[in-house]
Amino acid sequence: MTRTGTGCIDLPSPNHGPRPEGVGVELLILHYTGMPTAESALTRLCEPAAQVSAHYTVDEDGTVYAHVPEDRRAWHAGLSSWRGRADVNSRSIGIEIVNPGHEFGYRPFPAAQMAAVADLCLDIMGRHGIAPADVLGHSDIAPARKEDPGELFDWPGLAARGIGLWPKVCAIDDGPFTEEEVADLLKRYGYDSACPRAQLAFQRHFQPDGMTGRADAETVRRLRALTRMTGR
Ligand SMILES: [Zn+2]
Repeated sequence: MTRTGTGCIDLPSPNHGPRPEGVGVELLILHYTGMPTAESALTRLCEPAAQVSAHYTVDEDGTVYAHVPEDRRAWHAGLSSWRGRADVNSRSIGIEIVNPGHEFGYRPFPAAQMAAVADLCLDIMGRHGIAPADVLGHSDIAPARKEDPGELFDWPGLAARGIGLWPKVCAIDDGPFTEEEVADLLKRYGYDSACPRAQLAFQRHFQPDGMTGRADAETVRRLRALTRMTGR
């Protein structure tokens, strides 16, 4: 384990492969580790048998570990899709954020950890020209299987620094809606709208105080705002 010039601790994982020819990095995917301790997560991300990895892990005290070079394809997203395209691993960078997760005692992400996450995200976005809207959670791209980084994650705080998008609702976003419009908005924004848990995944990210699993007027307002802001 060696400290690199960028302030990361080098903790290489063997779990990666080449990116396909001509495929660039377009998405930045944020995860929680979902393991009882940071040590158990770091061990798993680096052991060949686990067949999983991420480019980075950020510990609760803000320590950043680098596992896989950014030009390599890490194995963090699994079966997933965004804006109708699968194989997210080939065109993304993945960051694991230490938190026990819903299974082992989900808890708030400390300020030092979020500050380190923000700095790392801005670095990566700058290097690869990733747009704010293309910073997503694992649950956004795999709503049927995943809940990370979860409803306690400070997406509004990150959006204030230009990382990810937070809906800026205005009067034109009001008005009645139909189930068809909800599905259409979810799909246009990027979700797999055929997944029964897509509405819950959207709320977990963009409406954490209203996680009913069924779109309501506020959900639709925020969906309309986001599609308007991105021109999707
Ligand atoms: Zn994940």
